[in-house]
Formats: sequence, structure tokens, C-alpha cells
Amino acid sequence: PPPPPPTGAVNVKVVVRVRPLSAAERAAGTPAVLTPDARRRTVTVAAPDADASSGTGGGTGGGAGGGGGGCDRRYTFDAVYGPTATQAEVYEGVAAPAVAQVLAGYNCTVFAYGATSSGKTHTIHGDVPSVAAGACGGGGPGAGLIPRSVAHIFGALRADAAAAAAEWSVRVSHLELYNEQIADLLAVDGGGDALRIYDDAAKGTTVAGLTEVAVASEGELLALLAASAARRRTAATAMNARSSRSHSVLTITTHVRSAGAGGEDLLKVGKLNLVDLAGSENVGRSGAVAARAREAGAINQSLLTLGRVISALVEGAPHIPYRSSKLTRLLQESLGGRTQTVMVATVTPAADGADEAASTLEYATRAKSV
Ligand code: ADP
Ligand code: MG
Repeated sequence: PPPPPPTGAVNVKVVVRVRPLSAAERAAGTPAVLTPDARRRTVTVAAPDADASSGTGGGTGGGAGGGGGGCDRRYTFDAVYGPTATQAEVYEGVAAPAVAQVLAGYNCTVFAYGATSSGKTHTIHGDVPSVAAGACGGGGPGAGLIPRSVAHIFGALRADAAAAAAEWSVRVSHLELYNEQIADLLAVDGGGDALRIYDDAAKGTTVAGLTEVAVASEGELLALLAASAARRRTAATAMNARSSRSHSVLTITTHVRSAGAGGEDLLKVGKLNLVDLAGSENVGRSGAVAARAREAGAINQSLLTLGRVISALVEGAPHIPYRSSKLTRLLQESLGGRTQTVMVATVTPAADGADEAASTLEYATRAKSV
């Protein structure tokens, strides 16, 4: 029989998504050095400069690899999605189980972690139609985890209400963490000053003054996000530079009130956090700050601490350093305990992104439950 999980340890689900080579990369003949295998749940990174190394003799055959750093490296995860995986498949495997938990009254968090350009925003938000802002419906094949989660939540709540005469409500907030400062993405006036976090005895960790909007349908929620994105869509390049350094956190809170078996009131409150993290190039291997990032003054306290918090959770450590960054403080009640956490590590297969991809795979490996 399988041994029981270590006491206190938390199950973090870690999945990897390998994006396709872009048209430009294919046109330039960029080789793919990363091989996903969805069935075996592995990603293999080809040894760098295997042909250039002189010591391996005539070894051209099977993947056993030679000595001295010439070995292919293989990583195993809870799931692996290759370049042909659809947005729908990723939703079903990654977020649908978390949404079901949220509707049952739990807190769940889905992170996208990876280097800039590896596919985080594609995964979390999806391809935003370039036409009218309001056209961001949940139905298109390019829709990412947010529109799909929203459609799932409202569909389930309406079915639930019809079946059990339950009452429900949905509230949403959306914030950005940049340089350890919180900005309110739903504030119509642009948000003004940076917001502060405080510990509320009843509600737990709370952001003072953060806009929280009650929404009655998926259309209303998606229109709200589209309007907020349109307000920010000023200079695309400036926004890309900023998005590679900032985290965005969308929180959807569901309340479901129904009658229990004995006629008593049952209230289930669930919370879903969908997090598009800053580019992982800001954090190097083994959690050290990459020299490049340090030079750029881009040490990302929240990204560093998130890795430490998740490692501490999966090891069942007695102290979890939630308070060492804004991101982990914000998500404290949704990480650990009776919650479900999913990390989607996104990587490029392209040779010129191989170093970043390898460090993403190592970070993701450390986040796996032991
Ligand atoms: P990030 O948010 O990590 O910086 P993006 O999500 O913006 O990266 O992805 C970079 C580019 O690659 C975008 O043009 C995006 O549409 C494309 N892309 C990323 N992942 C995929 C995928 N799985 N399938 C197709 N295109 C993708
Ligand atoms: Mg992005």
C-alpha cells in the first residue's frame, strides 16, 4: 500500500506546458532542444553542444549521454502539455478540478510561472481578440484559463440554483503587484496610491480599498476585465516591459447558500486565484537571483519568496515564510492547508531559451510534492 503523505505536507500539482516554436523561430531555423512527452509526463532537455564536445567519441546512438555535462536531462511532472495541446485540454486538466473545489467551498490558486514569452499570459488569459474589447467571450478556442473558469463557475452556479434552490453570488477583484506595490486593476480612476495589506481578524489577509465587484454573469465579469485591460492598453511595449516584472492576481469569490439536510442554512465560500507571474528570468537557478536581474535592479522578492513558500509547504516545514513578500501574504489563505495549488510552468522549446527553460523546470521540480 502507498505510504501516507507526510504530516503537514501539502499537495501542490505541478504541470509543464511547452509552447510551439513561433513562426519567426521556425523561419530562422531555430532548433527545438526540449522534448515533451505527455504520456510519460516528462520533458527532456537535450544536452547543450552535444556535437561540439570532443570527449564523447563515436557516441551518436541512444539517449544515454556521455560524461561531463553532456547528458540529456529528463524531468517528470504531474502532467506535461506539448505544443499541440489545446487551451481546452489545458483547462480540463489544470483548472477544472480547482474550480470544482472552489464551488465546494475551498480556496484554490493557479499560477503560471515561466520566462517572458514562454506562454504565461497565453495560458492564463488566452488570445485576446484584437477586435472590440468587449468581444472577449469565453467561447473561442484561444480562450485561456480565466474565461473558461468564469464560464464553468457561472454554469455550475446556475445549475446548482435550479436544482437546489440555492442562492449564490460572485465577486471579483484584480490587482497587480509591481515592485512590491499593489495596484488596483479594477479601479476606474486608475487606482491612485499603492494599496496596503492588513490582517483582518474575520476576513484574514485583506487589501485596504481594493475594488471588489459583484457580477451576475460571465459576460459581466469578462466585460469588466476587458474594460480594465483597455484602460491600460496604452503603450504596448511599455506594458510588455512592465508585465515581465509584475504579477497579476485575479480573484473570484463565490458564495453559495443552500438548505442543509436538516433545513439549516449552509454557506460555502470559495476563492479562485488565477495568477500570471512576473517573468522567471528575474530569478535564477536554485532560487538565487540571476546576475542579470541583480544588475537591472529587478530582484523580485515575491517570485523568490513564492518558491521558498511552496518548497516549505511541500516539505511540511514548521515555518512557512508567507510574510516575506506581498504576493505570498496576499495568497496566504489560498496556499497550504485545505487548498489546492497548481503551478503551470511554461517553457519555450527554442534553443536560445534553453537556459531559462532549464531553470524553470528546476524551479517546478522543487515545487513538486515529495
Ligand atoms: P508570457 O506571458 O509568458 O510573456 P505570452 O503568453 O505572451 O508569454 O506568449 C508569447 C507568444 O507566444 C504570444 O504571441 C503567444 O500567443 C504565443 N504562445 C504562447 N504559448 C502558446 C501556445 N501554447 N500555443 C500557441 N501560441 C503560444
Ligand atoms: Mg505575459
